[in-house]
Amino acid sequence: MHPLKPLASLPTHEVTNMPPYIGDQDLWADDVALREGVAREGAGWAVEHLADFGSSTGTTENFDKGEQANRHHPELRPYDRHGMRINQVDYHPAYHDLLGHAIERRVPSFAWSHQRAGAHVGHTALTYMMNQVEGGLMCPMAMNYSAIPSLRTTPTIAEAWIPRLLSTEYDPRDIPVTRKTGATMGMFMTEKQGGSDVRANSTKAVAVGAASGPGAEYRLTGHKFFCSAPMCDAFLTLAYCEGGLSCFLVPRWTPDEERNTLMIQRLKDKLGNRSNASSEIELQDTWGVMVGEEGRGIRTIIDMVQYNRFYCASSSSGLMRQALVQALHHTAHRSAFQKRLIDQPLMRNVLADLALEAEAAIAFTLRLGRAIDEAPKDPSAAALARIGTAIAKYWICKRAPAHVGEALECLGGPGYVEESMMPRLYREAPLNSIWEGSGNVMCLDVQRAMTREPAAIPAFIGELEAARGGNAALDRSIDALKDALDDPGDFELRAREVTERMALTLQAALLVRHAPSAVSDAFCASRLGERWSGAYGTLPRGVDFDTIIERAAARD
Ligand SMILES: Cc1cc2nc3c(=O)[nH]c(=O)nc-3n(C[C@H](O)[C@H](O)[C@H](O)COP(=O)(O)OP(=O)(O)OC[C@H]3O[C@@H](n4cnc5c(N)ncnc54)[C@H](O)[C@@H]3O)c2cc1C
Repeated sequence: MHPLKPLASLPTHEVTNMPPYIGDQDLWADDVALREGVAREGAGWAVEHLADFGSSTGTTENFDKGEQANRHHPELRPYDRHGMRINQVDYHPAYHDLLGHAIERRVPSFAWSHQRAGAHVGHTALTYMMNQVEGGLMCPMAMNYSAIPSLRTTPTIAEAWIPRLLSTEYDPRDIPVTRKTGATMGMFMTEKQGGSDVRANSTKAVAVGAASGPGAEYRLTGHKFFCSAPMCDAFLTLAYCEGGLSCFLVPRWTPDEERNTLMIQRLKDKLGNRSNASSEIELQDTWGVMVGEEGRGIRTIIDMVQYNRFYCASSSSGLMRQALVQALHHTAHRSAFQKRLIDQPLMRNVLADLALEAEAAIAFTLRLGRAIDEAPKDPSAAALARIGTAIAKYWICKRAPAHVGEALECLGGPGYVEESMMPRLYREAPLNSIWEGSGNVMCLDVQRAMTREPAAIPAFIGELEAARGGNAALDRSIDALKDALDDPGDFELRAREVTERMALTLQAALLVRHAPSAVSDAFCASRLGERWSGAYGTLPRGVDFDTIIERAAARD
């Protein structure tokens, strides 16, 4: 609990009917859907670590640090006091503390340092919990996690970088990486003339010596319009060389221990995600080394993008969970018209609907985590992971802003005030829907997976069929979806509608198989029913509101 009690007795009035501080949260123990999902999807062995993480992460102190890190924005310090170019960014100490907390507890490294089934499921749970406290530090955490497969394509680079990226020591010093105990990784692909369309990139790379290809040295010239977390020790990027668009690793320091010419031009003034510095940079004959095959840059970096997309789904699930927790707490302790808000029928409809959305989101991401775990040995799991990641990135990230907005409204006026944390969650919510592939791009990626990966649709349908017979609305939805997938006409035009239907049917199938019937029945009756508008609080009569709310509100 919060250590200090405020003074409720003021000279002019007594403060009443205001909820107590929410206090420390146990992000693991209080979250029934998370605990069940982790056990179900194969990470039961990680429970001790996850339980310790949940209780040590959801502290008032950490939530306060998230607030401070957002209030005191990072500042660009391009030059030192002697006028020398240093390209540094100064962060509030709270930001460093939270990054240290995450790295020491393996948020970015868990999946790769446990070579066993359930590792990516455990990673999902860590990301989901950490993101509830502060989203701005998750960008470098996601990049550290997702860069590993791309780096593995080039053994010399993998040997030099992977052990440091998997280190459990946070070392923020701006010094050559060989002298550091741990490292962080970023990525910059987006240029002014092309973000989604990276083939429009104009950055050029020229080989330094006679050698070219994987592991060879290059000099890069051009710009990047978005480079988040620019204090990372290295970045993966794309540039054109003789053999075409290729992937490069660009470190802050060259192997000669010179500052690399990674020129930060300015920091972006963003809607949210304010603790994380997002910058524009210029590459001025900047030293880099090629990763993966020449001319196959998109192929090399796409693994990183794919894991980042998975991260987006996990972290948006976490945002929705925290928004729900805040709404449940407030409404349980606030009364209007002689009744607690949480007991008002229409508020119960809103809260239960928010709870369904949050549970469906984490069930989907944990199931994806298992598919990623199984992918190396199981082509069908790999196909499900491929198409499922695009579907989850689209739908879960798309649902988050409206979800957080509705939860904010449950707090009434105080929800619109910064101290409540809701504005910070609300500003964070649209971001996962934009970076790593915006909504339309994700739906087109679903289409790409369908046409290029013959195993994708069979794997996806197989997952749905496993739930057949459990709910009549679900059965009808599976049949309708099959018809929609069999119809190739105007697919690009219909891509959002089909992807949404795929997401809802898969979420319903998971809940029918694994959640209490109160949850799955309500989900199917609303999302797969005839008149669902997508607005929250429109669950039909007959829903078991008590069970759904009690399950979500384990702590209150
Ligand atoms: C806070 C923040 C941090 C970021 N950090 C990084 C970073 O560290 N590194 C990095 O590389 N990038 C970063 N980005 C950039 C981000 O990945 C891009 O902005 C994003 O991929 C979209 O690219 P774009 O901005 O060029 O938009 P565009 O590509 O111009 O797209 C604009 C809109 O058009 C849609 N669209 C595009 N193509 C099609 C199509 N064929 N059919 C229909 N619709 C289409 C998109 O879905 C989008 O809605 C960051 C962005 C933000 C907001």
